[in-house]
Amino acid sequence: METILTHSGRWPEEHHGFVNTPVTRGSTVVFPTLDALEKGTQPYRYGRTGNPSAHSVETLVSELEGAAGTVLTPSGLSAITIALLSCLKAGDELLMTDSAYEPTRKLCNGVLARMGITTRYYDPRIGAGIADLISDNTSAIFTESPGSLTFEVQDLPAITAVARARGITTLVDNSWATPLYYRPLELGADIVVHAGTKMFVGHSDAMFGTISANADWFGKLRETHLLTGTCASPDDAFLAARGLRTLAIRMKEHEARALELASWLERQPGVRQVLHPALPSHPDHDLFKRDFTGSGSLFSFVLKPAPRAALQAMLDDIELYGMGYSWGGYESLILPVNPARIRTAVPWREDGNLLRIHTGFEGMDDLKADLKAGLERYMATA
Ligand SMILES: *Cc1c(COP(=O)(O)O)cnc(C)c1O
Repeated sequence: METILTHSGRWPEEHHGFVNTPVTRGSTVVFPTLDALEKGTQPYRYGRTGNPSAHSVETLVSELEGAAGTVLTPSGLSAITIALLSCLKAGDELLMTDSAYEPTRKLCNGVLARMGITTRYYDPRIGAGIADLISDNTSAIFTESPGSLTFEVQDLPAITAVARARGITTLVDNSWATPLYYRPLELGADIVVHAGTKMFVGHSDAMFGTISANADWFGKLRETHLLTGTCASPDDAFLAARGLRTLAIRMKEHEARALELASWLERQPGVRQVLHPALPSHPDHDLFKRDFTGSGSLFSFVLKPAPRAALQAMLDDIELYGMGYSWGGYESLILPVNPARIRTAVPWREDGNLLRIHTGFEGMDDLKADLKAGLERYMATA
């Protein structure tokens, strides 16, 4: 995988020897003759339908995911939108994990509902039990593993076995593990999406998304992507390519740091539970070990219940952790989250405050000291 990350999607001989595929900004592509215009032999025809910057990242991500092909989108959410639109039509039912990224739910409950597509939420830990939820109209199952905010690991092979037997498409949001640590197409899934904004770009400086599909689905995906005009900007494709070159070493660091911090947090006063699937204490740890080869930067932890003032005391004076949405950059982030507000299939009953952490590249002692001081302020106010 490290060799793919370093070499795939680069053709220096086509760019005067320059190592990186340059940014090709452009709309119009000109053709020298009527024959060339009509025959479609030039690799690119118009800015929206393809350019070298996009081709570079498509090639690289397809190799990483073991996919038949990949398309690029202007954000992770647009990747999820186009992936779903490529396999759903009016009257269909979609099975959606209850642990999905919140904007994915809003897309389903808003736009898809308006188009006559029904979404049914399921327990992320349902596994082969998904068979009981399938109706004649079920045409797609969407998974996200581990789940956003709550980190349940899904039994993807059990789900895809059921889906394949019934001709149902399985989609995976693979943003957390990246193709380095989780290979959904090998586990039977059809379509994989990435919030490229996060680990692929890796520096908090661009919005980006990718959708990869197996041979069964790539044609339909590519058609839907072209017809909806949802191309990514060449500048953002370039930033994603640049980020991807160092993905393996960044992931290794994120993984080691997040794990160290997570197990340290498990021992801190005031911390009730740490939700990180690579910790032996996690309820889905065995499943995680079976299907994943590594873990990401992001995990959550539950604090002892306390009033909002305690959270305020902890977070308002925190120094190194930025309080903000998103994740995947070099800098650490912390975010109070509340799954109870959105969950429907499996209500979130934890009454302690839930915080999500993205572990960046600051010094570990500094990160621990900042959190320790924050936890002390929390406990003093609790
Ligand atoms: C951020 C995120 C997305 C959406 O990506 P954007 O680029 O912000 O649109 C999708 N899925 C997951 C798991 C995410 O964390």
